[in-house]
Amino acid sequence: MYRFSRAIYRELCAEIVEDAPGQPYLNHERVLRACEAAVERLATDRHYFARPARTLFNDIRVYFPITAQGRVWRVVERYMTFADEFLSSQALSRFDIYGNPILCRASTRKGTQCQRTPLPQNGYCPSHQHLADTEDFHEREVDELAAA
Ligand SMILES: [Zn+2]
Repeated sequence: MYRFSRAIYRELCAEIVEDAPGQPYLNHERVLRACEAAVERLATDRHYFARPARTLFNDIRVYFPITAQGRVWRVVERYMTFADEFLSSQALSRFDIYGNPILCRASTRKGTQCQRTPLPQNGYCPSHQHLADTEDFHEREVDELAAA
């Protein structure tokens, strides 16, 4: 998730204005923290975060010269849009088309379905990844039997 805030920071850090003598990287630190906070809020509270790019831009614009404001806005808007698209694709894949949460395919020892969120590549949660490995093995065995 933080690759988005780091990308914003990296694109803009050369233009950050430092005006506190003795604290050469204070504003760099502030810009980076503001980017992280915005991305984190987008990740955890996106439904109540109405204008993320505008909010972040307002938070950090004071650390840039007037001449850089247009570029700062374009960079912030671009990466916050990427982050938002990334998060909505993640959110979608956790639910089926009926809006039910997609659960791990494994059963627990009690015989009920595991309630954890599966990984997209094989439908098992992190604790049940070993089942995906044995499943691959089993499929290979069946294929070999069918070929014999
Ligand atoms: Zn599981």
